[in-house]
Amino acid sequence: MSFHDILKSYRWQEVGQEFLACGEADVRRALAARNPMPEHLIPLLSPAAEPFLEEMAQRAHRLTEQRFGRVISLFAPVYVSNECINSCVYCGFNRTNPVSRLTLTPQQVEAEGRLLHDLGFRHVLLVSGENPHVVTLEYLTWVVDLLRPLFSSISIEIYPMERDEYEELIDHGVDGLVLYQETYDEIRYPEFHPRGRKKDFRWRLETPERGGNAGFRRLGIGALLGLGDWRAEGFFLGLHARYLLKTFWKSHVTVSFPRLKPAAGGFAPPYPVTDAHLVQLLVALRLILPDVGFTLSTREPAHLRDHLVPLGITTMSAGSSTEPGGYSHAREAEAQFQVADERSPEEIAELIRQKGYEAVWKDWDPAFLERQAAGE
Ligand code: SF4
Repeated sequence: MSFHDILKSYRWQEVGQEFLACGEADVRRALAARNPMPEHLIPLLSPAAEPFLEEMAQRAHRLTEQRFGRVISLFAPVYVSNECINSCVYCGFNRTNPVSRLTLTPQQVEAEGRLLHDLGFRHVLLVSGENPHVVTLEYLTWVVDLLRPLFSSISIEIYPMERDEYEELIDHGVDGLVLYQETYDEIRYPEFHPRGRKKDFRWRLETPERGGNAGFRRLGIGALLGLGDWRAEGFFLGLHARYLLKTFWKSHVTVSFPRLKPAAGGFAPPYPVTDAHLVQLLVALRLILPDVGFTLSTREPAHLRDHLVPLGITTMSAGSSTEPGGYSHAREAEAQFQVADERSPEEIAELIRQKGYEAVWKDWDPAFLERQAAGE
């Protein structure tokens, strides 16, 4: 059974009604559950849970510390291309936006990687728009071959691919796949993704499954907060993470919390998410998903990121540029969205230390796998 089969068994509108029907007793029952299940997410995400936020936050903090310790892993995105054949209405890389386009040469990507390596990073996330004619599989394997000596972990956040293409990337040393569904509302999805391959909701939804079957060690998902009712997005995101955890138990599952930011095109999010609701989403999901890594990017402002560190976050980006060539200033190109936390990686690491946590630059080494394979 694919996750799409599970998703189809729900009605978006009915789930929305269930949040409104929850009362204090439902929230108390969910908090009292020994093994909270996904259905407990409904009361925990509901308006009735808002007076319980402090208690939920304390529990989320304790759970995260028990499962992950006091560590925050750091990574940096490397934008390799902002060329795109799609027209997502909220994105600066939308093909109809008259912005300057750039695809880095593999050597330019390597130069970006060297700068990040010198800053201390050992985990990078390769990001691109969707243009498989430019960012081809061959291009990506070339890039990964150049970066491999510099980084112990390389993840990708590019367009959805077939399983055998993922297998080839894994062979070259990519260990993580990140792909946001953007919205789990299948009815409204085409409104935000009117053209191009991305229009296909199911093809996108089942991408993490193709990635899991290919053997990625890390599978990252997320919803773009602001497109739909955040409570419903949070519920389906929780179901999706749980499904991936159970189906691909050898992979580490991560969830991201990207909120829509201003970008070229001037799209206004139909369902803006407040800081308090972002906190509620994060801590409610932590109570249901104690073993899932939570990622927070530089989309969020410094004061909020500082506040969220103890509440369940396990991975953060730092010092990010969201334009191709942004670290080495190879050439002017359009950024995908505005970065809100502009502190340097060292400043972020210092903040993490001040909070009593350890900033981890390297949390994985391919040698672990080699040892496992050798039975050590
Ligand atoms: S969100 Fe991705 S696929 Fe959509 S326009 Fe932007 S870069 Fe292209």
